Amino acid sequence: MDIFDNYVKAGKIASQVREYARTQDHTGRCLSEICNDIEQEIFKKGGEPAFPVNVSLNDIAAHYTAVPNDPIIVKNTDVLKIDVGVHIDGYIADTAVTVSYDTKYQNLIDIAERALDEAIGISRSNTRVSEIGRIIEKTITKYGCKPIQNLSGHSLERYTIHAGKSIPNIWTIGHSFNLSVNNVYAIEPFVTTSDGQGVVYEGKIKNIFGIGSRKRTKEQKTDDFLEYLWNKFKTLPFALRWIVNEYEEKEALYLLEILVKKKNVHAYPILVEGANRIVVQAEHTIIPQESNTLTITK
Ligand code: MN
Ligand code: MN
Repeated sequence: MDIFDNYVKAGKIASQVREYARTQDHTGRCLSEICNDIEQEIFKKGGEPAFPVNVSLNDIAAHYTAVPNDPIIVKNTDVLKIDVGVHIDGYIADTAVTVSYDTKYQNLIDIAERALDEAIGISRSNTRVSEIGRIIEKTITKYGCKPIQNLSGHSLERYTIHAGKSIPNIWTIGHSFNLSVNNVYAIEPFVTTSDGQGVVYEGKIKNIFGIGSRKRTKEQKTDDFLEYLWNKFKTLPFALRWIVNEYEEKEALYLLEILVKKKNVHAYPILVEGANRIVVQAEHTIIPQESNTLTITK
């Protein structure tokens, strides 16, 4: 199968799983149940998760995934961002939706969706990404809300979710580039309310991990663990939930801690809104063409 077919297939599965997640009533469910359920849907459809499903609540903008048996339960007043990644042979589709069961947040969610639609509408080969940032910011501020200025979309490459190029959610002068035909990008506006800071900071919780270096530690058990992680995840992020079937949780945590200290493994902190305001997100993965763009997660 060629690269393009893999992207289309990954995108289709990611889209179906996102819609499955959107239409479920998650209230009263715990976050580990939600993550496991969504990840099972990805496998059932013939894909693999490209990263642990992110289930970030309220003022947490991104990078929260459930720990094993995570006790946090979704309430009907919560705002839940569900960010799903699917890969087929390393070719990744990245998409997100925000759900809330309290109607007062629907407007905020609609604004993020609208900003994403507007951004995709101007995306094609040679679109300047500063223009994408400009239209996202303009759409969000028009409705009296704020974009999160230090979160952005990104280029994707095989087995690499953040492949080095950023697609801003605000208008920035200075460094910019043009979208390239048949390259793959995720566009993902994050929106907060007018009393938010519009900036996220790193929180204390780190539930998502990724291998940074395969340099041996010269400690057999740790090296075996690193090799196990590499064989299972390569350069893709993973969660403790994904390894507790083969390693006892305490043991896995202990070994992970060593690998994080030795910088073999990177631990990604949650990202929290600066004034602890509600954040919503919408995301699609696109492949620009000459006169329009293909949205693989539509
Ligand atoms: Mn995402
Ligand atoms: Mn993304």
